[in-house]
Amino acid sequence: MKRNILHSCGHYQERDFTEEEIARNLPLFLEKRGSCRACYIASQAPKKEKEFEEAREQEKSEDWLPLEGTEKQVKWATMIRYRFVKWLEEETEKQFKEKGNTPGVMNGHRLLEWAKASIDSGYWIGKREYFAPDRFLEEYANNASFRNVLLATVGLTFLPAS
Ligand SMILES: [Zn+2]
Repeated sequence: MKRNILHSCGHYQERDFTEEEIARNLPLFLEKRGSCRACYIASQAPKKEKEFEEAREQEKSEDWLPLEGTEKQVKWATMIRYRFVKWLEEETEKQFKEKGNTPGVMNGHRLLEWAKASIDSGYWIGKREYFAPDRFLEEYANNASFRNVLLATVGLTFLPAS
């Protein structure tokens, strides 16, 4: 059932609760705690803007090929690509330090080159869940169609998790 919750930002926000949550007094517990969704999103905006600026700086300083698409698509894809590359650079570097130039490290370098030259914003957006840093390795290991595309287009050599 729906309850109107007064948040700490001073806004009311309607929220659906289960009977069990109501029995536990969750609506009362949430009263005057945290921001409403709109205020939360607004509070994240400066952080996102800063990360976007960082992404653009890095793209320029390293000569990544500029993404193509509508302005909105490019902005979104910039963040997906930037987060993926940043994560992969760290992972590859870490593995190189631990184990030397393994096939996994070589794959990492190929993938980085490819990512920096992949300019189709729609592709990045469409595959954003696969390129999420916390998902990529799992997708690569378990999602055959995603892996096959990478094997074919990036020239990766498939390795079971090493
Ligand atoms: Zn609010």
